[in-house]
Amino acid sequence: MQEEHYYPFGLNQVGDWYATTAPENKYQFNGKELNEEMGLNWTDYGARWYDATLGRWGQIDPAASEYSNLSPYNYVANNPILLVDPDGTRIDVSALLNNGNGGVNKDGIWLLANLIWELNAITGMQFRIENGNLVENKEIKARTEGTSKSARDYVRGVIGDDKVVNVKVGENESFAADGENVFLSTTQIEGQMNSLEEKGLNSLSYGYGMTFLHESLHTYAGAKQYGESELLHDPNPFGEGTSIAGPVEEKVNVFRQELRLPQRLQYSDFPRGLRGIGLEWQKPNGEKVVTLQTSREQYSRERQKWINFFKTNIAPTYKKMISK
Ligand SMILES: [Zn+2]
Repeated sequence: MQEEHYYPFGLNQVGDWYATTAPENKYQFNGKELNEEMGLNWTDYGARWYDATLGRWGQIDPAASEYSNLSPYNYVANNPILLVDPDGTRIDVSALLNNGNGGVNKDGIWLLANLIWELNAITGMQFRIENGNLVENKEIKARTEGTSKSARDYVRGVIGDDKVVNVKVGENESFAADGENVFLSTTQIEGQMNSLEEKGLNSLSYGYGMTFLHESLHTYAGAKQYGESELLHDPNPFGEGTSIAGPVEEKVNVFRQELRLPQRLQYSDFPRGLRGIGLEWQKPNGEKVVTLQTSREQYSRERQKWINFFKTNIAPTYKKMISK
């Protein structure tokens, strides 16, 4: 059935309900401002979105292309993205939704909800998932103000590349493997985010989005965006001369700079020997700050709402579609 190829609900609200993208705003989101500006509360908006989405989905007709008079809700026919061969354009996130045994991947769903949230904050792009791939929702224009153009160009390049990037759950560490797999560890990422926040730094500097961008730069698709045919590697964290960011972090630092976020000063960890624990940062005003990885107990209320909504309404639907 044709429906199985088209997953037509966009994650397009992600951007809409970002009231501000100022990096000073800890979570890039303020529900109160949203209410004031749009006269909507999050739940209403989310529910409306979901209703509209299901409505559209329900209206997809396998014979739609034969119709000359298309409904405005005929999402498939109106959306050029859906005409693209998914094999040639993808950041594959299906492993985050499906655990491979016919069950829901709970860690993966948590991770994906956060990844979409942060990639939107960083790039201003709207996303949706098609065929288990993360793609741009081009129906809604990317937000350019307060976002990183370099990151946007990069993510668009990776999405459009002929090499796949598979996003998977990593247990205790985030890393890339085989030029096409990116493993993200919620434990590590949340620990780093928490450590940044404890020092008053914006956790977007090294959260889900930046960690994904870093690891994706270790893939062929990532390297290619910078004209490299070989994989990009980090400096040896235990070797000499490791007080440099390295070719990957240099690029991520450009994204951070465009967002006025703190720069990561080195690849190797600080203090030396505590790998994965300590990092040194430089704020836009020049001040240097050392963070020590801790663990996180809770998210902001607004982000938790998004995650809950994603888990309850979005992920199971995709999971069901993917497993068909
Ligand atoms: Zn790396």
